[in-house]
Amino acid sequence: MPRRRPGALRAARRLRGRRPPSWAYDTGPLDRLSPGTSAAIRYAEHGDHGHDVSPGRTEDFLRRYRAFLRRPGAKLWLTASECPACPGCRYEDVAVVRDALQAVLCVLPPRPRAELRGHLARLDAEFRRRTRPDPDPRHWADWSGEPYPWWHRRLYEGG
Ligand SMILES: [Zn+2]
Repeated sequence: MPRRRPGALRAARRLRGRRPPSWAYDTGPLDRLSPGTSAAIRYAEHGDHGHDVSPGRTEDFLRRYRAFLRRPGAKLWLTASECPACPGCRYEDVAVVRDALQAVLCVLPPRPRAELRGHLARLDAEFRRRTRPDPDPRHWADWSGEPYPWWHRRLYEGG
C-alpha cells in the first residue's frame, strides 16, 4: 500500500517549489508530460523515496499502464502477478503499477504533482471504463481492514 513515510514527507517539503537541477532536463520529456514535470519526476527519482520512485521507473510504469489500456477487447480483466513479492514480477499486476505511480505523485512538488495527477486522471478514466468493479467486499480491504485504493477493487482474471 503506498503510504507516505515521514522521510518522504520531509523530502517532499524540501523539494517543494525548488526547480530541478539542469541534468534533470537532459533526457527530454517523459511520456506526454511537460519538460518541467518530466524534470521534477527525474529529480524525485534520484531522491530517497523508496523502491517505486527510482531512476527510470516512472516512464516504465506509465508505459505499462498504457500497454494495459491498449489491450484489445471492450472490457479488460486485471491479471494478478505470479509472484507478487518479487520486484521483477510484481508489476505484471497493473494495480501494483498504479500504486507505484501514486507513490511518484505523492513525492512531487505541487505544480508537477497537479500535472501528473491530471495525466493519470485521463488514464484512470479509461481504466474505470474498461474494467469492472469487484462486487465482493472481502476483496476491498487488507487483513487489517485498511481499504485498498479503488484501482485494486476491480475484477481480476479467474477471480
Ligand atoms: Zn518473480
